[in-house]
Amino acid sequence: MKFQDWHTHNSMCHHAIGSLEDYVKKAIELDLDLIGISDHFPYDYLIGIDGVPIEDYAMILTETESYLSTIENLKEKYKEKINIKIGFEIDYIENQVERLNTHLSKMISRLDFILGSVHILFSENGPWAMDDKRFLEQYDSFGASSVFLLYYQTMQKMLNSTEFDFDIISHFDLPKKYNKSPSKNSKDLITNEISKTLDLIKKRDLTIEINTAGLRKPIKEQYPSKEILKKTYELDIPILLGSDAHDPNELAYEFKKMVKLLKKIGYNKLASFSQRKRSFIDII
Ligand SMILES: [Zn+2]
Ligand SMILES: [Zn+2]
Repeated sequence: MKFQDWHTHNSMCHHAIGSLEDYVKKAIELDLDLIGISDHFPYDYLIGIDGVPIEDYAMILTETESYLSTIENLKEKYKEKINIKIGFEIDYIENQVERLNTHLSKMISRLDFILGSVHILFSENGPWAMDDKRFLEQYDSFGASSVFLLYYQTMQKMLNSTEFDFDIISHFDLPKKYNKSPSKNSKDLITNEISKTLDLIKKRDLTIEINTAGLRKPIKEQYPSKEILKKTYELDIPILLGSDAHDPNELAYEFKKMVKLLKKIGYNKLASFSQRKRSFIDII
């Protein structure tokens, strides 16, 4: 089947390589049906996140116009060759959704899809980016079980925040990235939090991304795990594929392998978005 890749970055975020056009050209070379461009939404409107190196995470607000118009031009330029969809990956930051919306509302009508992510957690020592190598010491001193717990509780807040408007949950079980797992005696507690989170996703009728970046990280497994995917299937939660490419060569990474896995679980459809409306394509 011709693949659609819904999670891609580019050099505008300062931690990826390749221009927007490089990704589009590579996607055409790979004969993808569609590339969803979803660079990190700016962080510079946020308050109280001192110590989090946001300059390494995303473009700034004043650059969003150039981001959107560049993609709109590429869409036109390559319309005979590939479908291009415009999106953002937006971090959920507690109590600041209203601030986010003052900026996002100005551009939301130009977007085809929005990925909702949790990377930044708030604990006694303040905010920190749970999946950034530079915070690994903090991760370990907090303890994997507490990280998983706080992560899913934050995701539940994101899902309960009706003001936080998005379509797709990115990298569902991200805290496992560095091959970390909760302790044995907190497993049940975490499983329970996962179930609560999935129920909220179902209730909001959102889509979950199968993110293959995990296969390139120490955990060597896609997000979410097969175990969680069996639950999303039982709950009839729609899914789609994202490579989370930070290099054009990572586009559609291991998608064939994922399709095999998804078929085995029972999935026969993948979600697709245009102007924030969901449709489905067959897995073949
Ligand atoms: Zn990134
Ligand atoms: Zn992410």
